[in-house]
Amino acid sequence: MPEPAITRLQSGGLITNYVCSSACAHCSYRSSPKRDKAYITADEAAANFAACRRLGCRSMHIGGGEPLLRPEGLKDVLRAARQEGIAIEYVETNSSWFKDLDTTVDLLKELQQLGCDTLLISIDPFHNEFIPFAKVKGVLQACRRAGMGIFPWVMEFYDEINRLDDQTVHSLEEYEKAYGPGYLADVQSRYWVTMCGRAVDTFGPLRARQSAAEVLRTAPRSCPRLLGTGHFHIDLYGNYVPPGCVGLTVRREDLGKPLAEENYPVFRTLLARGVPGLHESAAELGYQPTREFAGECDLCADLRAFLATTAPDRFPELAPVEFYTVDR
Ligand code: SF4
Repeated sequence: MPEPAITRLQSGGLITNYVCSSACAHCSYRSSPKRDKAYITADEAAANFAACRRLGCRSMHIGGGEPLLRPEGLKDVLRAARQEGIAIEYVETNSSWFKDLDTTVDLLKELQQLGCDTLLISIDPFHNEFIPFAKVKGVLQACRRAGMGIFPWVMEFYDEINRLDDQTVHSLEEYEKAYGPGYLADVQSRYWVTMCGRAVDTFGPLRARQSAAEVLRTAPRSCPRLLGTGHFHIDLYGNYVPPGCVGLTVRREDLGKPLAEENYPVFRTLLARGVPGLHESAAELGYQPTREFAGECDLCADLRAFLATTAPDRFPELAPVEFYTVDR
């Protein structure tokens, strides 16, 4: 059986930073103001774009953390994309940086000249816990004035957010009070929540949970999703992140090459034997489950957190380590 490798890339995103002005309850990356303050350099961005282009990717989106915490850094990233022949589909933003219409319109026009013609603007109760809606509406208005494309994510939430005071923030508890008990549980089906990162903490308790033993009894004996390349990410440290499996990475320089067992023991175990295989390895190192789990991805994340904090040097693919240590 040939060694697994990531040989073709379909579409994905570049992560400029993990630090963020928000700490949303659904965030797959556990981004927050507590994370490493680093921002991707122009050279690192160019190397990421070049690696993705070599494997067939022709366009990507840009996300974070919050890419517009450093507008000059984002401009360098857009220049790197143009230099490496990668088209930019959209830049994601939470609008927290909005101050006034004129300066925002000027900034958007500069971004357009550098190849960004669309902003994905976050519109949901999770961001509204940290960002007043007036800022979001300000960015929407500035986009219309500058002729910047708008990808509202998710417009369906606009009216229910806008009914609350737009000059301040509102907790998820306030939304439950305003729209009834079960509002948060209902949001799951209205928003594409991926059960990883902080979403596991927020939505895990709202789902059916089982003991580790019960999860292991029915868990798939392989995780083919790890080799999926439709919505991958590559971050400021040169880590490739498979879709939906945040905290598990492949080094940029290993893309397109066989992933050797000695360098990727967790990746290889999950691919070959699924979460039950990973549980065996973690149990040998003393892992003991301390709670119930909302499915195999929840248990997988707990096993990986144990390995990343117990033997970080043995599992460098569990990165960035902050994903497992900050916020817990
Ligand atoms: S079990 Fe782990 S490796 Fe498999 S899909 Fe879920 S998070 Fe990814």
